[in-house]
Amino acid sequence: MAEIRGLATHAAGAQLLPYKYTVGELGSHEVEIRISHCGICHSDLHLINNDWGSSKYPFIPGHEIVGTVTAVGSEVSTPTVGARVGVGWQSDSCGVCEWCRQGDDHLCPKSQATCVGRNGGYADAIRVNARFAIPVPEALESENVAPLLCAGITVYSPLRNLLARPSSRVGVVGIGGLGHLALQFARAFGCEVTAFSSSKDKEAEARKLGANHFVNTRENGEIKKVAGSLDLLLSTVSADQDFQSFLALLRPKGTLVVLGASPSPLQIPPFSLILGQKAVAGSPTGSPRDLYEMLDVAARHQVRAITERFAMKDANKAVERVKKNQVRYRAVLAN
Ligand code: NAP
Ligand code: ZN
Repeated sequence: MAEIRGLATHAAGAQLLPYKYTVGELGSHEVEIRISHCGICHSDLHLINNDWGSSKYPFIPGHEIVGTVTAVGSEVSTPTVGARVGVGWQSDSCGVCEWCRQGDDHLCPKSQATCVGRNGGYADAIRVNARFAIPVPEALESENVAPLLCAGITVYSPLRNLLARPSSRVGVVGIGGLGHLALQFARAFGCEVTAFSSSKDKEAEARKLGANHFVNTRENGEIKKVAGSLDLLLSTVSADQDFQSFLALLRPKGTLVVLGASPSPLQIPPFSLILGQKAVAGSPTGSPRDLYEMLDVAARHQVRAITERFAMKDANKAVERVKKNQVRYRAVLAN
């Protein structure tokens, strides 16, 4: 029996407190990872606060993990002990359903999230199914790559699978953890990119990261000026939004991709979709196949998370800064 130590939330919205849990023999398909870094995704805050009504306490949050493999189960051939790997939102799936067999493991009905119903990455170690421990390319620093494991893949996957290309005009609403990576990936796909932000101090950086245009969403009338200009709009905001006004930003045949898990149902009048033949899509994380590809693209196209580093023991301080939208652009905990 071994012990894993981390920081857990014991009640909705409560501070993280030191916590340990015991683990038995390593499963035949599992790897154990010594965690060096873990990003703080806004989904961790939703889970800590029980915004989705699914949180079971106590639990250790964290699903943007980078670390080193320290042990492998009897059936595991890769990764090997000593490999640097990343783990994102998903850490297991059945491996045999039609979705897993097609490489869409993230759509498996038995998919397991890394820190829902189990303990995540604000800890010294974690065990996951080896298929979800993705090798990290050497060119990427652990601190800057950790946020790619959730925030990165969440924006990369819809750009890739909805066929963003040089002719595409792509908008990104909310320039936080997801948003600042979306700007970089959309640039890598060769798109014309518009950033929509409620923080006007983000303009210069947004432009450096890939935005050709910047819209201050707090400024009256600014959103309307770019109506009908986008083919693809990624909404990454964690709070409720006026989705009808987002649909007005799309050109005919455009798609609004809802990524932010805002609390209320979407209010969308049918004619804002019917006229212009528009679509609304959701997208959850991405498949292991897309994770491999995304990390390779990040390494070759200089996509990096801009991070604020905190010692693991200061996780509460970091969570507080995320809550206040003060982080530029991703808080990462380091062991
Ligand atoms: P984040 O780093 O906190 O960034 C969210 C951004 O949204 C902020 O930086 C801010 O951008 C904007 N924002 C925040 N509060 C706002 C408010 N009250 N009104 C208007 N804008 C606000 O969060 P994140 O980690 O990127 O996550 C964003 C959302 O995506 C969360 O809901 C998270 O749960 C969800 N998520 C979904 C998936 C998925 O699989 N679909 C994966 C990961 C995360 P500006 O300052 O630029 O306005
Ligand atoms: Zn996440």
